[in-house]
Amino acid sequence: MALYGGIEAGGTKIVCAIGTDPDHIYAEVRFPTTGPDEVIPRAVAFFREQADLGPIAAVGIAAFGPIDPDPNSPTFGYVTTTPKPGWAHTDFAGAIRRALRVPVGFDTDVNTAALGEHRWGAAQGLNTFIYLTVGTGIGGGAMVNGKLLHGLMHPEMGHLRVPHNLATDPFPGCCSYHGDCLEGLCGGPAVEARTGKRGETLAEDDLVWDIVAHYLSLALADYILVLSPQRIIMGGGVMTQAHLFDKIRKMTPLHLNNYIDMPQLAAAIDRFIVPPRLGNRAGVLGAIALAEIAANPH
Ligand code: ZN
Repeated sequence: MALYGGIEAGGTKIVCAIGTDPDHIYAEVRFPTTGPDEVIPRAVAFFREQADLGPIAAVGIAAFGPIDPDPNSPTFGYVTTTPKPGWAHTDFAGAIRRALRVPVGFDTDVNTAALGEHRWGAAQGLNTFIYLTVGTGIGGGAMVNGKLLHGLMHPEMGHLRVPHNLATDPFPGCCSYHGDCLEGLCGGPAVEARTGKRGETLAEDDLVWDIVAHYLSLALADYILVLSPQRIIMGGGVMTQAHLFDKIRKMTPLHLNNYIDMPQLAAAIDRFIVPPRLGNRAGVLGAIALAEIAANPH
């Protein structure tokens, strides 16, 4: 059976794995996201060191963005305009392909996590859904009619502009591009800036969680109106605060005010807004699925 390599390149850590599916991961390594001059050789060395497992048919990369995921573009496989030191305009996929001499699949971390959840997790059998990560950054991937959503570039759902009433919420937001976009208002750094504490140290009844749920549910209402997803999967560090799910499930239908008359927005909302079934492994497992597709293009 063919083996696949997966690389999940997140904002703070890199995960590399070799295997075929969630039950068959034969090797895995994690290391910090430093510059590409360090990360790429380290990933290549990991795959080479595991040669005893057998040859790898392809590698999938789930990358923080913005990236160029268009196979017809001259800069396909590049991390493009990221503010992350050293990474802007890096030919990530090309460097891996040249070093390992295998096909390389490349997409955003969140589109790739969506793919993993579709193959093995909470989105099995669906064809249109969203995977949203809420952590240091906020990002959303989507599958629409059975295909991962690209287009002009790829969705950047975390930078959605949401209504922000400065009279009731004077926090100006902390996105370096937009100030008070969704990520700027309620990503991990916003929670920390608002409270002076890291999110994981805050009590469940801290009022900041109501603020986070308020903005996230506004965003979800907008995603529902635009993409008509059959499910919304919410992962990432902030969403490990499991009590947020109850708040968001309660608030999202209120914003829509019965306009969309579906059980998914009423009695069945517990199965509509859900955590990832693959947990924090959705990204790296999705990268394995991405590799499988790269090895077997249709
Ligand atoms: Zn922003």
